[in-house]
Amino acid sequence: MTKTLVSIALWALSGWLLGAWLGAATGWAIFALGLLAMILVSGLQLSRIARWVRNIDDPPPSSVGPWDEVLAPIYRKLKQNRLDLQERNRNFQRALLAAEALPDGALTLGPDKSLLWCNQTAAEHLGLNHHQDRGHSILNIIRAPDFARYARQDSWDKPLILHLSRSGQTRTLLLHLAPYGVGQFLMVTRDITQIERLENTRKDFVANVSHELRTPLTVLSGFVETLLDLPDEAISPDQRRHYLELMAQQAHNMQALVADLLTLSSLETTPNSPGSPVSVPALIRTALTQCQALSNGQHQFDVRVDDTLQVIGQDIELSSALSNLLTNAVRYTPAGGTIAVAWARQADGGARYSVRDTGIGIAADDIPRLTERFFRVDRGRSHATGGTGLGLAITKHVVLRHQATLDITSEPGAGSTFSIVFPASRVGAPARAAAAEDHAA
Ligand code: ADP
Repeated sequence: MTKTLVSIALWALSGWLLGAWLGAATGWAIFALGLLAMILVSGLQLSRIARWVRNIDDPPPSSVGPWDEVLAPIYRKLKQNRLDLQERNRNFQRALLAAEALPDGALTLGPDKSLLWCNQTAAEHLGLNHHQDRGHSILNIIRAPDFARYARQDSWDKPLILHLSRSGQTRTLLLHLAPYGVGQFLMVTRDITQIERLENTRKDFVANVSHELRTPLTVLSGFVETLLDLPDEAISPDQRRHYLELMAQQAHNMQALVADLLTLSSLETTPNSPGSPVSVPALIRTALTQCQALSNGQHQFDVRVDDTLQVIGQDIELSSALSNLLTNAVRYTPAGGTIAVAWARQADGGARYSVRDTGIGIAADDIPRLTERFFRVDRGRSHATGGTGLGLAITKHVVLRHQATLDITSEPGAGSTFSIVFPASRVGAPARAAAAEDHAA
């Protein structure tokens, strides 16, 4: 501005001087021409500035006379603001990405509990459609009465456990609301379906173990009390022996249960190592000797075993899985039945151990549940034959630890076939088995 005033003053002064030297009329004419030239130049400069304002992100036009002084600081400020805005945008994007990456769901709600924003996890948890549901009250979106009661509270010290069913699946969510900012709310959702399932399994397991132990303990203590209360002469030696045999049976059942529980616990806690070559034919023979003793000559045994086939694994675990299937075949096959045991190589290089019986068989609906802990088709029959209800659960565990599969086919009244199929990577003849172990290590 000072420049403009100085130039006008200079023009006025030179006009006055020229007027004094050349005469007033010529002086005024030159002065007027000068002023006109100045107005034209200023007009041009202003139009360049106006053009720049339309593209304000570009640097301002250079040489716009006195305007240079004004435009330079404006442009510097604009540039700084733009950089600040970009930085803020970057921070906002980072915060959004972090919120998206959260393993938990997160939603923000307005003062009227309308949905403002949610991350992908929250959308999955609650079945939200981010675009359609935005602006709608969360109470209309989640229609569970428990949630409505929770959301209408004034403060939220504790989270809410909510069971939501969608497309035939029930999910258990842990929801927590918290006020934030000015009258807004943050809601965090966590999927605890798996944790709840595990917790229920643990509770069921403890209840089952207690129940399984209580039954033989009650019988045992009943007999002990009877023997203690009855005078010696009131009970014959045969009767006493009978009671003691029954007590021994109950004690044996409890021992078997505790042994199976310890096996399960060790399978769950011991890290799975590749193991060493195990002679499956030798394990089958040992198991057969025990089962033939259990069968007491009541069953026919048909044995086809490839003596060259070994498996890389844990011998104690494999021994328990192989003999469980054989013992079950004996226990669930009435006298006179046949039990066929086979151990053979498969076309794909794997190997199959199978035990086929002509026993009572299993209904198709029960087959998927056989490997559940304490599941029995017929509890009475299992108890009568000394079963713990854990044999197949242990077998399944061992099978999984050897990357094998457990196949079960059965027909009620006709018999069952239980097979363990080992993958080729676990199978070898003696020489190959050692090499495979080196490879696995
Ligand atoms: P249990 O100690 O009761 O035998 P398992 O886990 O070994 O427990 O087996 C679970 C259930 O599977 C048994 O109670 C029985 O009902 C059924 N089962 C297992 N093997 C056979 C079989 N070979 N034939 C018929 N039912 C069987």
